[in-house]
Amino acid sequence: MIPGKFEYHAPKSLEEALRLLERHGDEAKVLAGGHSLLPLMKLRLAAPRFVVDLGRLRGLSYIREEEGKIVIGAMTTHAEVESSALLQLKCPLLPETAAEIGDVQVRNRGTLGGSLAHADPAADYPAAILALDAEIVVSSSAGARTIPAEEFFVDLLTTQLRPGEILTQVRVPVQSARTGTAYVKLRQPASGFAIVGVAARVAVDRSGKVLDVAVGITGVGTKAYRASGVESALRGKQGSAKLVAEAARHAARGVEPLSDLHASREYRREMAAVMTRRALERAIARAQGKQV
Ligand SMILES: Cc1cc2nc3c(=O)[nH]c(=O)nc-3n(C[C@H](O)[C@H](O)[C@H](O)COP(=O)(O)OP(=O)(O)OC[C@H]3O[C@@H](n4cnc5c(N)ncnc54)[C@H](O)[C@@H]3O)c2cc1C
Repeated sequence: MIPGKFEYHAPKSLEEALRLLERHGDEAKVLAGGHSLLPLMKLRLAAPRFVVDLGRLRGLSYIREEEGKIVIGAMTTHAEVESSALLQLKCPLLPETAAEIGDVQVRNRGTLGGSLAHADPAADYPAAILALDAEIVVSSSAGARTIPAEEFFVDLLTTQLRPGEILTQVRVPVQSARTGTAYVKLRQPASGFAIVGVAARVAVDRSGKVLDVAVGITGVGTKAYRASGVESALRGKQGSAKLVAEAARHAARGVEPLSDLHASREYRREMAAVMTRRALERAIARAQGKQV
C-alpha cells in the first residue's frame, strides 16, 4: 500500500504544468483529485516517476455560461457540479449524475476532468457527457484541441489524450425547450461504481413525438457508449410506454457486456435494458414538464 518513489511537482500555472509534462513525457502523470490515481499507485499498478499536481491551478475550477454553452473547468469537483445552480437550471443531467458518484469524500475530492481522463468503464460522467453531446478541450504546449465526447473514449482506461496533454475544459450545449434528461444507475453497493448507468436526453413536441434522443451507457462494456439502436428506435415516433420498453431492449446491441464478480454478462445486458427504460421514461416525463 506504499507507492513507488516519484518526484512531486506542484506548478502554479497551466503553462508550467504543460512544460513539465512536455519535459517528462510518458514518465509523468497528472494528479487531480487523486481518487483514482493514488489507489493505483499504492497498488503499484501505476508507477509514474513524476507526478504533476494540478491542485494549485485555481483557474481550472469554474462553471459558467459562454456563447450558448456551459463550460466547466477540468478541476471542478463532483460536489461543485452537484451543487451548481447554473447547471441545475440549464443542464440538470450533470448535477444528477454527480450526486450518484461514490460518497461525500469522493465527491469532495474527485474532479470532472480526472474522471473523464481516467475513463473507468464503470464511471458515471462518461454516460452523461455522451448523452449531452459535450466537447472536451485538451491542451498541450503546442496549443489546444477540441474532441467530441463520442470520439474521446477509446477503450478501457484509454482516451484520445496524448502524453503531454491536459484535459482543461468540458463544453456542454445548453438544454433546449421541451427537453428532459435523467441519469439512472444500478450501483455496486460497496464502491458505488455503476454496474449499469444510463443517461438519457429526450426532446419531445407537444403531441409527445420524440424529436431528438441521446442515450449514453456506462458500466456495461469496456467503455461508455451511445446506444444508437435505442435512439433510432425512438427518433421521430410517439414516445409511448410500449415503444420506450421496446426501444430499451436495444441498450446493449453491438456491445460485448463485461462479466465479473459483481455481475455476469447476461445480468448486465438485462439491467442495461431495464435502466435504459427507466431513464427514458423519466426524461420524457420531465420533457413534458412533469416533476419526477
Ligand atoms: C471509494 C471510491 C468510490 C468511487 N465511486 C465512484 C462512482 O461511484 N462513480 C464514479 O464515476 N467514480 C467513482 N470513483 C472515482 C472518482 O470519481 C475519481 O475521483 C475519478 O475517477 C478520478 O478523478 P480524480 O480527480 O480523483 O483524478 P485522479 O485520481 O487524480 O486522476 C485519475 C487519472 O486521470 C489523469 N488526470 C486527472 N486529471 C487530468 C486532467 N485534467 N488532464 C489529463 N489527465 C488527468 C491522471 O493522470 C490519472 O491517470 C470512486 C473512487 C473511490 C476512491
